[in-house]
Amino acid sequence: MEHLIKTQLPTEWGAFEVFAYQNDENEAMPHLALVSKAFNPEEIVTVRIHSECLTGDIFKSKRCDCGEQLNMAMKKISEENGVLLYMRQEGRGIGIVNKLNAYNLQDEGMNTYEANQHLGLEADGRQYHGAIQILKDLHIERINLLTNNPMKIHAFNDSGIFINKRIPITALPNKENKFYLHTKKNVKGHLIDNL
Ligand SMILES: [Zn+2]
Repeated sequence: MEHLIKTQLPTEWGAFEVFAYQNDENEAMPHLALVSKAFNPEEIVTVRIHSECLTGDIFKSKRCDCGEQLNMAMKKISEENGVLLYMRQEGRGIGIVNKLNAYNLQDEGMNTYEANQHLGLEADGRQYHGAIQILKDLHIERINLLTNNPMKIHAFNDSGIFINKRIPITALPNKENKFYLHTKKNVKGHLIDNL
């Protein structure tokens, strides 16, 4: 996969270059790679694969931990000259309207995966193939992956990219997202230690 465009992006965490990549699922919403200025693909690169969450990333919703994870990842990646992939797969791939609909079902007592299934959607439709192709375009071969999600680690099996280690990325639980975090831990085996 080749990038469509790249440009400089100074941020409050430091200087980045941003690369845009075609999103085969949705042409109007390209994936982004934020590459720290001193990044060197020959080293072991700190990587975060972040799936878009409009409500969490922009509005700092307390229903999930996405916004806090994004902040922590940007800080860490800036410090360690890494790469953040911002994948346009809102609401675990179901889209914003379905996600808001699922929130209503959650308010009636379903967990996040049950709510998606009730709507006839995949519990977690995220794909990591595109992310792996982007890392390859950036000539990355060895990574330290910021994640709590074992599915993301498994996605790298036979990818040609070696995971040197997992770096936990743990947000502080709050009253509103405690059940959501427990569900990620208990239903999907996320590696969350502070619950
Ligand atoms: Zn979220």
